Amino acid sequence: MATVYFGDQFVDDTQAMVPVTTHALHYGIAIFEGIRAYRTSDGSAIFRPLDHYRRFLKNAALLQMRPRETAEELTGITIELLQRNKNYGDTYIRPLLYSSSTAVGAHLQPGEKLAIMTYPWTPTSLPPAVSTATYSKWRRFPRASCPAGAKITGLYVNSALAIDESRRRGFDQTIMLTTSGEVSEGYGANIFAIFGERVVTPPESADILAGITRDTLIRHFQSHHDLTVSIESISPDQLFEADELFLCGTGLEIRPIGRLEDRTIGTGAIGPVTTEAARWYRAIVTGTMPAPDGWRVAVSAVGAKA
Ligand code: PMP
Repeated sequence: MATVYFGDQFVDDTQAMVPVTTHALHYGIAIFEGIRAYRTSDGSAIFRPLDHYRRFLKNAALLQMRPRETAEELTGITIELLQRNKNYGDTYIRPLLYSSSTAVGAHLQPGEKLAIMTYPWTPTSLPPAVSTATYSKWRRFPRASCPAGAKITGLYVNSALAIDESRRRGFDQTIMLTTSGEVSEGYGANIFAIFGERVVTPPESADILAGITRDTLIRHFQSHHDLTVSIESISPDQLFEADELFLCGTGLEIRPIGRLEDRTIGTGAIGPVTTEAARWYRAIVTGTMPAPDGWRVAVSAVGAKA
């Protein structure tokens, strides 16, 4: 049994229940986050929690939800939750803010409830395993129809259909295109392609959710004097010409793609830029390298055991 934060208190997860009449269940009106805490040599640390919670609050406002907690307070609650659950190792953190009205009607209803859950989590191997990917027949929903860059639960039916369809066809990962046919992103991860010294990732106008991992890596690549970073539209054909390709996100971390459809990407193995980025990312999240202020927020004291 684990403790969860529910409403405005810490309760046993068996007590964190919602009525079947809950508005969010019927219309997908809820927002969420995916945050990670990593074991470091100095206890565990949450990676970029304030940036995650700022995004959470921005997304909440899109649905007319205004939780009373600030990003700093939400981070404080998360630290206390991790401590109560003794999650001092690698952990996935899932904040959720849902429309708790029980009224019928697909309009935005007043009333919301906050929940935060934590799950023990295993980081991916290093170097990460190489995956296959395909272009999904499901296109990423356009910004003109909904806030494509927001983590709104109802919008994830698009991701679920895309990955399910791609896995049924035998691929590990899916790459979604925009309705106008540009490369957008994975089902819960952004994409980077490497062409020689150029690192390219699609812009927000390609209906992506602009990930915090994407931002972390853009800054990293920009600090490399031998690489140039370009945020630009990519066509599906261009990706076949990439020397390296990878997906990235909080949950997935960095996932190299060695085959796209029936074509080998680069050598088919993890390439040098992806290898370096995966090592660097692990060092940043686990504290073996200095990170910008506020990126790692300590959860526990030295010597705490998972
Ligand atoms: N795109 C989508 C659709 C996602 O759900 C996620 C995961 N939040 C990402 C990209 C990557 O975002 P982040 O790096 O902030 O986890």
